[in-house]
Amino acid sequence: MEEHMTGPVTWSIKALDTGTSVVEGSVLTYLRHCGEKITIPRVMWVLEGPTTIVVDTSVNPEGKPNEFMNESFERSREQIPENALKAASVDVKDVEYVVLTHLHWDHAGNCGLFPDARIVVQEEELRYAIAPGRFFRKGFLSPESGWPIAPPYIVPNLTTVRGEHEITPGVTVVPAPGHTPGSQAVVVQTASGPYVIMGDSMMTYDNIESDCPPGYHVDVDACMESMDLLKSRSSLLLPSHDYAVFRERPVTLIAP
Ligand SMILES: [Zn+2]
Repeated sequence: MEEHMTGPVTWSIKALDTGTSVVEGSVLTYLRHCGEKITIPRVMWVLEGPTTIVVDTSVNPEGKPNEFMNESFERSREQIPENALKAASVDVKDVEYVVLTHLHWDHAGNCGLFPDARIVVQEEELRYAIAPGRFFRKGFLSPESGWPIAPPYIVPNLTTVRGEHEITPGVTVVPAPGHTPGSQAVVVQTASGPYVIMGDSMMTYDNIESDCPPGYHVDVDACMESMDLLKSRSSLLLPSHDYAVFRERPVTLIAP
């Protein structure tokens, strides 16, 4: 049998712009930029390689979680997740895994779009999301928060993992607690080296440049340790809410 040279499996990354919010600066960087209004994207990521993986599922319009959270949120027709996926040439039936960095309303809102995928979250995150501390209840659309319907991440195809876990060759989840107790980042092997999709462990590049954790967190010390850990895995870091990610290579921007 003929032998083939096979290198490591590599993936490409697409960033889908699925909505726009204006937030107060200290939400993004702890005790910095207080009072400043900053416009941020709501990003869904698509990883393409031997199979298709979605990371985070953005804000669900049903029941208007943005109004429930009292956050400004705008979404054009093109930014509706179904339309953004189509524009990125992604058929939801081809999505084999959905990785949720954490279960906040703006990251786990559209799990129902992927009934055939295995949806992966850290066990610790699911435990906390169901019965969070009082301050954090609304952000998880927890049953105790007054949110009127089931949280959007409670779906039959949700599966939990504990700790670092290879989803498939070239894509590994790494626990990154701090923003939430069970936050995880996703290390993706690309032709340009490993990229880390940080979730809200890093909301903007300013978190790393100023060595400042995200403003919204359950444990500020854990936030710093998680940033250190992820920096040690790669220098190619992709924050969750910074338009600059759309200029990173090899990330392809899919936006209206
Ligand atoms: Zn979050």
